[in-house]
Amino acid sequence: MPLSPSETTTLLDALGHLPKKKLGQNFLIDGNIVEKSLQLADLPASGNVVEIGPGLGTLTRKLLDAGQTVHSVEIDYRLAENIEKTETEAINQGKLCLTRADAVKLPLGSLPESISEYAIVANLPYAISSAWLESVLNTERLPRKMVLMMQKEAVERIWAQPGTKEYHALSIFISNSYELTEKHAVSRQCFYPAPAVDSMLIRMDLKEGAFLFSSTVRALIRKIFTQRRKQLGSLAKKEDQNNKEILLSWLEQSKYPSSSRPEQIPPEEWKRLGELFATVD
Ligand code: SAM
Repeated sequence: MPLSPSETTTLLDALGHLPKKKLGQNFLIDGNIVEKSLQLADLPASGNVVEIGPGLGTLTRKLLDAGQTVHSVEIDYRLAENIEKTETEAINQGKLCLTRADAVKLPLGSLPESISEYAIVANLPYAISSAWLESVLNTERLPRKMVLMMQKEAVERIWAQPGTKEYHALSIFISNSYELTEKHAVSRQCFYPAPAVDSMLIRMDLKEGAFLFSSTVRALIRKIFTQRRKQLGSLAKKEDQNNKEILLSWLEQSKYPSSSRPEQIPPEEWKRLGELFATVD
């Protein structure tokens, strides 16, 4: 069971810790949501799970109880120290590996390179969710599934449709690799302190034939989206010779005219661009 609101404040008082807004420290206090996260994750009897921001350790404990080896990464020194005290046994048994670091820099914590089969389950600090997801893509070892608590707007942005103002580069990268298989609204009252934004618990599953863009192509698409209302043909002409040639040949083979705007092009068409770059690299 997670700590109740009063147990949470008592523990925070004992630690001399005021929840830090800039670190998204909104702790889960609702047992049903913790339960729901585990249910959605549908984990094997034993396996490896990466958790971002264990905080007071509510989700961590539940994952350990579910037989998982947990690789957690926490930036807050004091919270990490508390978990080291409360979870000494799991740490000594090698069931919990807690890394004090910025998850954007170390998106999978200290997950050993040898482990390729793993899941991510996390109540994310909302400020880093997009940057962290980009970093996960950068690792080029994608988890089979992710169960994430995120800000509702971030979920809507990632899964935005082409032609909408929310549609952006990360929507393209993620939707070429993952399917959004579950999405549940979560009340602000499920956290302490209650956040000022709405939350969603989602599950994303790695797609059959997931396509991972190279970091060069991701940088190019991100750059193109900074001018999302400009015509693709003229954006292509501003690129260096190599990029320009590939972009123009991509447009030539496309059913979308070169007068199209980046925001009108669907993810599968961007994937074709990624593939084109991969063949010439
Ligand atoms: N997992 C806990 C829970 O569900 O109650 C806490 C979740 S709280 C929303 C986010 C946690 O992420 C906090 O513990 C915070 O300190 C941590 N955090 C914030 N920014 C971080 C970063 N860049 N890297 C790692 N952890 C971070």
